[in-house]
Amino acid sequence: MKNIHKLIVSSLALVGLSFLSLVSFAQQSTVVNDAAMASTNQNGNWLSYGRTHSEQRFSPLTQITKENVASLQPDWYFPIPNSRSLVATPLVVDGVIYFIASLNVVRALDATTGELIWSFNPEVGTVAPERMRAGWDNSRGIAIWEDKLFVATWDGRLIGLDRESGEQLWSTQTIDPELAMYITGAPKAFKGKVLIGNGGTENGPNRGYVTAYDAETGEQAWRFWIVPGNPADGFEDEAMEMAAETWTGQWWRHGGGGNSWHGWTYDAELEQLYIGTGNGSPWNRKIRSPGGGDNLFLDSIVALNPDTGEYLWHHQNTPGETWDYNSNMDIVLADLVIEGEPVKALMQAPKNGFFYVINRENGELLSAEKITEVTWASHYDLETARPVELPGVRYETEAISISPGPIGAHSWHAMSFNPNTGLAYIPSIHTSTIYGDEGIDLEGFERDQWRLDTGVNSAPGGQSREDTPASLQAWDPIRQEQVWEVLADSTWNAGTLTTTTNLLFQGRADGHLIAYDAETGEELWDYELGLGISAPPITYSVDGKQYLAILVGWGGSMAALGGPAAAQQGWSYGAQERRLVAFSLDGTLALPTQAPPLVPQPLASSDFVVNIDLAQQGAMEFNGTCSMCHGGGAIAAGIAPDLRASGVPLSREAFENVVRNGALSANGMPIYRDLTDQQLEGLRHYIRSQAETALAR
Ligand code: CA
Repeated sequence: MKNIHKLIVSSLALVGLSFLSLVSFAQQSTVVNDAAMASTNQNGNWLSYGRTHSEQRFSPLTQITKENVASLQPDWYFPIPNSRSLVATPLVVDGVIYFIASLNVVRALDATTGELIWSFNPEVGTVAPERMRAGWDNSRGIAIWEDKLFVATWDGRLIGLDRESGEQLWSTQTIDPELAMYITGAPKAFKGKVLIGNGGTENGPNRGYVTAYDAETGEQAWRFWIVPGNPADGFEDEAMEMAAETWTGQWWRHGGGGNSWHGWTYDAELEQLYIGTGNGSPWNRKIRSPGGGDNLFLDSIVALNPDTGEYLWHHQNTPGETWDYNSNMDIVLADLVIEGEPVKALMQAPKNGFFYVINRENGELLSAEKITEVTWASHYDLETARPVELPGVRYETEAISISPGPIGAHSWHAMSFNPNTGLAYIPSIHTSTIYGDEGIDLEGFERDQWRLDTGVNSAPGGQSREDTPASLQAWDPIRQEQVWEVLADSTWNAGTLTTTTNLLFQGRADGHLIAYDAETGEELWDYELGLGISAPPITYSVDGKQYLAILVGWGGSMAALGGPAAAQQGWSYGAQERRLVAFSLDGTLALPTQAPPLVPQPLASSDFVVNIDLAQQGAMEFNGTCSMCHGGGAIAAGIAPDLRASGVPLSREAFENVVRNGALSANGMPIYRDLTDQQLEGLRHYIRSQAETALAR
């Protein structure tokens, strides 16, 4: 675009064309800055994660309506055959669509044809094959500031690209390479800066933070720590000194957590940045803060000065969090009228099951009500702005089933808000988990980096309501009540998009992309894409034509750790083609048929004799790291191969080649150089024992 612009400017100079035509051209060339990202009038574009700085995912485009939505058809598609976990929101600027796929590969396409303009591969598997053992290869998005585009990688790099060519301009490592932390979040651009956080509370004794970098150079502008470190080292700022008052024992030995891996909203109107923070590390408060305490700023919304990272205010959603509750969900801004008063509000539906409405001018909690079954608290006390907990919920004396569980009442799947209907649209989950800590050495608890250990015995507790494990809810944030609900057969349905024509779009885990009447929940269109959908749709327009685009590729933590229920859907690794699909009203494309659902069958082998002792040793190893992608109990849910069905573990040599020598690191399989021969054998015997158990059923 810029080259064309230069060309036109120079030819204008040559032939002396009128200034007017230059102006009309310039109007089509969007400068992506705070003014543009805060504007609701950027009709054709989708400039930042939630379309605008408000994160509402509300489009003012009017071509697709309730009357004609049923005639949407594929217009173009882009195959991404080597990808797996697709969860991102694409961005669109002036007819170019940009998106991030597995292994953080970024592509720019012509948004009217799907033709590739450039691609950028940060080569995660070559640069940091060891670091891939923390986290997942999925990314929820990218950011744009003026002529640059920003990619955050699995292994912790933040990279600035030239938006026109895709060339790398700078790269900054945002995570200490010794620490088992990772990035899945979309960077947030504002005021010439780019913000990024990280995940890793489960992977080691880690301490969360967010960092802002200069968009031009990649140099660090500021860092905000979420939980306090060791007081003996001195506190980084007054906020940490204040937070330390709410911790007990030697919390810093366990990291503390609070990692902010998602949930960053810039408020251009009030010039404030809001970050959603994570759960404790480890989960069990008895370990990390044995004398109790709120443990600030775990599971909170924290407002920061965007120029300096200085603390402004906070609201803690779950004081003394001990259930893996985090507030890393989207923070959505809206002007609401509450009891006759206009309020600059902030809304969030975090994991813990409450829907929060907060006055973002001062952090005052205005209301908090349950959107699902919530058994850890009876209600929220607005006087104290604190929840009222129910007895026994901290598994003080015995294990207890709690709703919601670690999967949350709502995860990172985007919540949208429609100012016309006044409703928020939430993909919600209705499950419970049994928490306990019998047999865990609470006082002597230690864990290394790169090993999953939460300090809690947790087991699935089933659905928290009989009729459905998940639903799509339209929620009135002012009256704090549900307006309509659509039940779903399976969990992990994707984020939502709403439009000024009062449409609502959502992709589901069962591979259907559906349009609803945003006012009533009536289903208006259902398109089957043949593969589980985990990414939210976007809409944009080019030359007066409106498109609806969505990444189709089952992904995220349920596609890793979802167990038999997730595996049963048949979106197994490599079975179906991952795609970016764009629809329009005059689309005529017939998409190539997807392979049918496939549930991998464990391989039988009469040559391999399982040694029970080795298998037991391998179980520890497997569930401390391999399960992160290959699934608990070696039941893979889609983002990585099901090892029970793989020939690789049958051969000692092949297994060593992949696991210890990194033969498949370019595909996202981490290198485990430190595994001993004995540990490798343990893993093989465990995988085979799981295969044989399944075959015997
Ligand atoms: Ca967590």
